[in-house]
Amino acid sequence: MGLPEHWVKLINQCVSTVSYSVLLNGSPTGLIKPERGLRQGDPLSPYIYIIFSEALSSYIDALTRKGFVEGIKNGRFTYKSAYLGLRRLRPSPCSALWKCIWKINVPYRIQVFSWKAARNALPARTVLHTRMPMNYVDCTRCNDPSESIMQALVFCPFASRVWFLSSFCVNTQAFSTKSFMDWMLFWLVNLVYKLPDGDQRLFVAILWSLWQSRNNLVFQNIKENYTDVLMRAITMLLTRKSTLSFVMRDFTNTASFCASIVFQVESVEEAEGRSIWAALQKAVEQKLTHPIIESDAQSLINQFSAGMFDGNSRTDAIFKDIQFFSSKFVACLFVFQPRTCNSVAHELVH
Ligand SMILES: [Zn+2]
Repeated sequence: MGLPEHWVKLINQCVSTVSYSVLLNGSPTGLIKPERGLRQGDPLSPYIYIIFSEALSSYIDALTRKGFVEGIKNGRFTYKSAYLGLRRLRPSPCSALWKCIWKINVPYRIQVFSWKAARNALPARTVLHTRMPMNYVDCTRCNDPSESIMQALVFCPFASRVWFLSSFCVNTQAFSTKSFMDWMLFWLVNLVYKLPDGDQRLFVAILWSLWQSRNNLVFQNIKENYTDVLMRAITMLLTRKSTLSFVMRDFTNTASFCASIVFQVESVEEAEGRSIWAALQKAVEQKLTHPIIESDAQSLINQFSAGMFDGNSRTDAIFKDIQFFSSKFVACLFVFQPRTCNSVAHELVH
C-alpha cells in the first residue's frame, strides 16, 4: 500500500511485542507469540477501520478521477450518477472474447492458456517483472530487450516466422502497433476478419505450442524449429485426449471408488463405452453381484439394456467386452442418468 517503512515497523511492534497464553484447566499454559494479525479487542483494532477506510476512499477517489468508477459524485456514491454511468456502458469487446475462448473446441487447459494470455497473465518476463523485480527481461530467443506476451507469441522473429508458415500465412509486421489483446480480438472477435470455428482451434493451438516452445528453450535449453511448433499444434488437435471417469457408490450414495482414466478416443460413444467398460471391469474385480451402471449416453444405455450393439471397428470390441462382463453378474442394470445427476464423475474429468 506504499506506507512508510517506519510506520510499518511501528505497527509490527504493536503486534509482535505482546504474547498470549491459553487457559487450560483453569491455569494459563504456554506463551504464544503472534507474528501477524490483530484480534478483536486488541487496542490497535479500532484504528484498523480508520486506517483502511482512509486508504480505500482515496483509492476509490483516484479511480474515479481516472474514470474507472461510476456513480461517485463529490466523493459520494449516488444512485442517479451510478445509473447514468451504467447507461453509458456497452458490452465490452473483451467479454465477447472471453465468450469466444470458452467456446473453442480445444482441451480446457488450452482454453485457460488462451484466456490467461489475453488477460496478460502468462509469466512472460516483463509480466513477471511487475510482480517481482527481475535482473533481465529480454527474450531468450532473439535478445529483444523486453519479453512481453505479444513479443513471445507474435513479434519475436521465431514466432513471426511460425505465423507466416502456418496456414494463416500472416505477416505479423501488420500488427506492430497493436497489443496482444488487439491480436486476439482481430482473429477471434472482429466481425470482418474473425476465423471460422475450425481455424480458431488451430489458432489457439499454435499460440499454445509457441508458448511450449518458449518454455522448452528457457527452462530446458531445447531449441525447436518452426515445423516442431506447427506439428505439436496440429498433433494436439488430432489426438485430443479425453479423460473418462466413473464413480462407484453403494446404496447409501457414498462414493466407494472413483477412477479417472485417460484414453485417446475418436467419438463420444467410444468415450462413454470405454468408461462403462472400465467401471464393469472394476465391478467384476470387486465381486459385485448386482451392479447398476448409470451413464448420460442415452443411446448406449438403450443398446446395452437390449443386449444389442451397433458399433464400428473401434467400439465393437469394447461393446463385446461389456456384454461379456455383464453376463458375469447375477443381474446388471443399465440406467440412463442425465449429466446433472452425475456431477462427481464430471468433476473428475476436469
Ligand atoms: Zn524473441
